[in-house]
Order: sequence, then C-alpha cells, then structure tokens
Amino acid sequence: AQKLKGKNIEAVLNEAYIKYKDVEEGKNADYIKELANVPSDLFGIVIVTVEGKVYSIGDVTDEVSIQSVSKAFIMAKVIDEIGADSIAHAVGVEPTGEVFNSITAIERSKGKKINPLVNPGAIATTSLMAGRDSVQKWYNIRNTLNSFAGRDLDIDWNVYNSEANDNKRNQAISMLLLSYGRMYFDPLQSTDIYTKQCAVSVNAKDLAVMGSTLANGGTNPLSHEVVILPDATQHALSVMATSGLYDDAGKWLFYTGIPAKSGVGGGIVAVVPGKFGIAAIAPPLDEAGNSVKAKLAIHYIIEKLGVNPYLVE
Ligand code: GLU
Repeated sequence: AQKLKGKNIEAVLNEAYIKYKDVEEGKNADYIKELANVPSDLFGIVIVTVEGKVYSIGDVTDEVSIQSVSKAFIMAKVIDEIGADSIAHAVGVEPTGEVFNSITAIERSKGKKINPLVNPGAIATTSLMAGRDSVQKWYNIRNTLNSFAGRDLDIDWNVYNSEANDNKRNQAISMLLLSYGRMYFDPLQSTDIYTKQCAVSVNAKDLAVMGSTLANGGTNPLSHEVVILPDATQHALSVMATSGLYDDAGKWLFYTGIPAKSGVGGGIVAVVPGKFGIAAIAPPLDEAGNSVKAKLAIHYIIEKLGVNPYLVE
C-alpha cells in the first residue's frame, strides 16, 4: 500500500483514470428517459480529504443527477434530527436483499423491513424530514444536500419532469407503505419531494465533498459548516456499508471495506472514515445498477492507497 501523501493520491488517481477510461461495458439507465441522453463517456474522479485538500482527474465539472446517492445524505440528516433508534424503528436498517424498487420487500415484511437506501425506505425517510408541509420539507431536503456539498446545487428539471411523468411505481410503493403505517407524511407528496431530491445536479467534486463531510464526522471540510453530528454520521456510514450498492453491496464491502452509495445517474460516493471522501461519475451501469467505471476506479484507488479500514498491517 502507498502512504497517504498528496503525490501518491495524485499518482493513484491518474493510474485509475488511465486504466479504466476506455472501458465500454455497461449502459446508461434509460427507465428515466432523460438519463439515456447523458454523454456515456463522461468520467471524472475526485478525492476530498478531511483536511480539505482536493485531488481530481477527468470530467469533474460535468453534472449528472444525483439520484439514489441523495438517499445516503437525507438519511444521515434524518438520523441527526430524530435519532438512530427512531429511524431504525420507523423505517428499518436491514438490507432488503431485493432490487431497489421492490414491492416484494415491503410485502414480505408487512412494511417492517425497508431500508433508507432503497426506494421504499428512502421515500419513508424523505417523509420524515422536518417541515410542516411539502414546501418546508423540500426546502430542508435541498438545504441538506447544499450543506453537504458546500454550494447551492441546481435541479435538473428535465430529469425531474421525465421521472415525475412516469412515476407510478414509486407512487404505488408510497401508498403500500401508508397501508402498513410506514409513511410519515402525505405519500404522493413525499414521492414528489423524493423525485425532486433525485433530480438535484452534482458533479464529481460535489459528491466527493459530500463524502468528505461524512468522512469528517459531519463537518464539511471546505465550508467548515457542521452539517450533522458525529453520532448520526457513524450510523449513516454503517447503513451505507451494508446497503449502498444495490444487490452488489455485499461484494463491494468484501472488496473495499468502505461505505459507499451509488445512483442510477452514474455517480458513486465512498467514504474512508477519518481520511477522505471519494467520488466518481461515469453514466454506464452494470446489471446491478452501479456505474461500471466508478466502481472499478474507486475499488482500485482504495486498494492502492491501502485504506480499507479492516486492513491491519
Ligand atoms: N429516482 C430513481 C428512482 O426512484 C432513483 C433510483 C436510483 O438511483 O437507484 O427510481
């Protein structure tokens, strides 16, 4: 393993970029029509350390929609607000072992075993966000993502519209959860806020800053804002470790040892607690819904830098 020094980080980022930039496996998500139009060759990788140092390579200012990566940060904020026991009770934290928009997962457990990092638990978590009405809840969701990123993020309204017009499955999920007493605000409004949350636009640097905020115990290392407290951060990272990469979460943890979250927009953020946040964006996804190149690149970098927290030398 390399020592975690600036020049080693730079060298390893370069290696990963060159090694994987021409990989052609995978395919953009297209069940949300607008995502199919994002350039497939976009590829950027960024590391932001807890000291606030930024290392980057490739397309780091091009934006994609955050999609499911938002779930990790909204969950973290809701844990901070209502406490770990409350979210474990109101939503649940077990991996579902089913696809991200599974109705079976809800049905099988009568709504009890849903998880904040896949759609049913995520919509329930969004419904728990502070705010008396949908305007306030959306304001708080947007603010949360902005604080993690340290800047005001835009919404991609084309992505929002294309998903909102074709959102029957998530709406059905929210209604089914309501029938089991697992929705904490109006179900269709919660689904709509959740859809907006997924349409927030981010670049690889934004995602890396968001990850570094978790790596740093909840304080953004660039803006120095205390976004959430360390207690909530540790619980959020634990759920990311067990459930962050859809049906490949187990394999991901096996190979890297670190919490992460992916989204169908092509972004993955991963966190080395106490050290850095790392993010990569590359739209083509594998069968499980994870960005092929982002996964390869982050795995390579974690291994080369020897920062798997389970590695004791
Ligand atoms: N907005 C997407 C959905 O609900 C997010 C999916 C994802 O990134 O996993 O289908």
